[in-house]
Amino acid sequence: MTSLRSVGQPAEGPEPAVAALPGTELLAALLAGTEPEDDPVTHVHRLPVRPARFAPWPAWVGEPLRTRLAERGVLEPFGHQVAAAELARAGSHVVVATGTASGKSLAYQLPALTALAEDPRACVLYLAPTKALARDQLASVDALADASVRPAAYDGDTPTDERDWVRRHSRWIVTNPDMLHRGILPAHQKWSSTLRRVAYVVIDECHAYRGVFGSHVGHVLRRLRRICRRYGAEPVFVLASATVADPAAAASRLVGAPVTAVTDDGSPRPGATFALWEPPLTEKTGEHGAPVRRSAAADAAGLLADLVEQNARTLAFVRSRRGAESVAEQARAVLRSRGRADLVSRVDSYRGGYLPEERRELERSLSSGALLGVATTNALELGIDIAGLDAVVLAGYPGTLASMWQQAGRAGRAQNESLVVFVARDDPLDHYLAHHPQAVFGRPVEATVTDPANPYVLGPQLCCAAAELPLAPADLADFGGDVAEAQVTELVADGLLRARPTGWYWAGRGRPDVDIRGSGTAPVSIIEGATGRLLGTVDGDASHATVHTGALYVHRGETYVVDEFDIEDACAVVHPESPEWTTVARDVVDLSIVSTDRTRRLGAVTAHTGVVDVTNQVVAYQRRRIGTGEVLAEFPLDLPARQLRTRAVWLTLSDRAVERADVDETALPGSLHAAEHASIGILPLLATCDRWDLGGISTALHPDTGTATIVVYDGHPGGAGFAERGYAVLRDWLQATRATVASCECESGCPSCVQSPKCGNGNDPLDKAGAVRVLDVVLDELATAPALTAQEAEVTRRPAPRPGLFGTSSPAAPEVAATTDEVPAEPERDPDDLVF
Ligand SMILES: [Zn+2]
Ligand SMILES: [Zn+2]
Repeated sequence: MTSLRSVGQPAEGPEPAVAALPGTELLAALLAGTEPEDDPVTHVHRLPVRPARFAPWPAWVGEPLRTRLAERGVLEPFGHQVAAAELARAGSHVVVATGTASGKSLAYQLPALTALAEDPRACVLYLAPTKALARDQLASVDALADASVRPAAYDGDTPTDERDWVRRHSRWIVTNPDMLHRGILPAHQKWSSTLRRVAYVVIDECHAYRGVFGSHVGHVLRRLRRICRRYGAEPVFVLASATVADPAAAASRLVGAPVTAVTDDGSPRPGATFALWEPPLTEKTGEHGAPVRRSAAADAAGLLADLVEQNARTLAFVRSRRGAESVAEQARAVLRSRGRADLVSRVDSYRGGYLPEERRELERSLSSGALLGVATTNALELGIDIAGLDAVVLAGYPGTLASMWQQAGRAGRAQNESLVVFVARDDPLDHYLAHHPQAVFGRPVEATVTDPANPYVLGPQLCCAAAELPLAPADLADFGGDVAEAQVTELVADGLLRARPTGWYWAGRGRPDVDIRGSGTAPVSIIEGATGRLLGTVDGDASHATVHTGALYVHRGETYVVDEFDIEDACAVVHPESPEWTTVARDVVDLSIVSTDRTRRLGAVTAHTGVVDVTNQVVAYQRRRIGTGEVLAEFPLDLPARQLRTRAVWLTLSDRAVERADVDETALPGSLHAAEHASIGILPLLATCDRWDLGGISTALHPDTGTATIVVYDGHPGGAGFAERGYAVLRDWLQATRATVASCECESGCPSCVQSPKCGNGNDPLDKAGAVRVLDVVLDELATAPALTAQEAEVTRRPAPRPGLFGTSSPAAPEVAATTDEVPAEPERDPDDLVF
């Protein structure tokens, strides 16, 4: 248990401010006395100071707004702010995709506030993914807008008696996609006076809308555009995004209309030294005798202690709350052991969820130096203003490059260069990044992926749209054209829509109940046995692998063990416990190919993408020691098989390809399995997902392909776009996969390369060397193949058969079992500060 005790009541007053060393010197001090062969630093990158590039104020920005901006210190806009503002002003949808703290807000505030000043009845809708950001933006607009704008929040926290007032009077409404979906669009008649005057829709931090949730949000925005059009408004969309690959394509797919990107960042950046750090292998061994690295948390704690000793104000970002507490605790222990009791009280952890006043208190304590080191979850990534931190330590890759830069961006001093240290965890993606600085510092390769054509998203969303306003044939173009038409036909057949001469009408009972954050299957409730308290819910799809009887379940950083999983009542009864082990489900998977949408022949290798049916049965679970992954025991489970219809990318290797890879019959299953694991570990580098969103199988002879096959599929009904992104960037993906496996210094496979924490087969068999040779053959064929055109890369799919809308499917069971598999499941996530 941690607290902000020392924040509220510092035992001693702040030390006199002594400037910490510049980044490079800090790093040298941290490494002093380290033997070169023990040096964990794999790369040091200098981020030079980047001076600002300004642009003149657009002539249309009024004097009052300029004056208010000047009062807040904005004397001259940056180039990207003006470029984006001009595009929006001219009526183009625009996405501004620039770095952390580059002032993206001004890009939409200029045209939007100007429109509100020019037309006293105009309105703006602002959507934020988190409450913290929403509140910050509300305050900012409040300070800039004139009194008639009355900016106000309309979200789950808005009291019922204030909602009417907001709807009637506010001209800058701060809300979120959930509220749009459940509150505003279904009641559009009540909102008509706002909706007919919406000049701009602002979508902040739009990279947050990804995967299945992002696909739902894409349709909520299409519904919004359709309703606005009905009332005669054609709002301009202005989006703000982190730096990602191809922001224009991602934003266009999200909004459903062409969006222009502005990416040339004109904001100044303080200098920093950025070190990539990989903890060394230890003498300890884990699963199948694999070597185990020192943990990222242990190294982060050591770094935090060292930096505090150097008087450097430091934030250490850790993935879980429990991890953050343990890093702070370990850092204090290190300081105590060094006789620095004076510094112990100046290290603390922060677990998020505190009130804004407490956050401000933390900011003050860090700024004054009362606190020197804080270990935190991503809760401090956004919505906190800490000027002049000397160092940031990232304990493990936070999941996306956008997030990584957001966290790294917390360090930065105007005068002095700061230090950022990324500590890699024992995982293929972290390992890859530690050894491939280009992937971190070069052109962004990660794309925000959504798939609005997913039938499990599209079908329910068309129902919502029809319930709001009957669907006309002309409306379908926005919702995906042919794919939407095919869906409508099925919805009519299912009795959910009714065809009339004037369009398609919602024919179901009540309103369609669509959870835009869920996968469509019923969630499972987690109940604490002793108190009967509902702790939360887990996704129904993931429940068999995550909350089976005996599973270790992590909820908001606290650990529980499941006493009983009741499938019929969709609940799991748990008790709190912190054992020395974690659990991993083992399952058997069958996969059959339903349809192939695209095929690329690459000599002896062929790549495909299409629809697959996955039958999955969790049959057992293992207890594994935390830290090493050593298998302590295995227990059988009796759970029914389940079906998932989803989208996949798969590679088939002809006999000639297998021969060229010099992999014999006995080595083939392990080689394919190892390649599958590593490729699943690496795909999140190129698509905004994590390995837990993906599943895979590999087999030396798949009955549907007749050859050696590796399949990677989206672990969500109907797909989420991740597998298709893999197909589009196959070469980059497999090159990074090959490099990860080949560069790992372990002998025959470890968690940094080919072992997977969620393998349904207990990481057996795995052939690391064989995987490299298989990947070499595939890459060799890819090298001589022509690159995909942009049009080929953009998957235009044929409508796939959809097995039932709001429920699960029951396709015929495939006949032959696949060899090996990787289970998509729900990882420990810290959903701090989500909007609900
Ligand atoms: Zn390895
Ligand atoms: Zn596996």
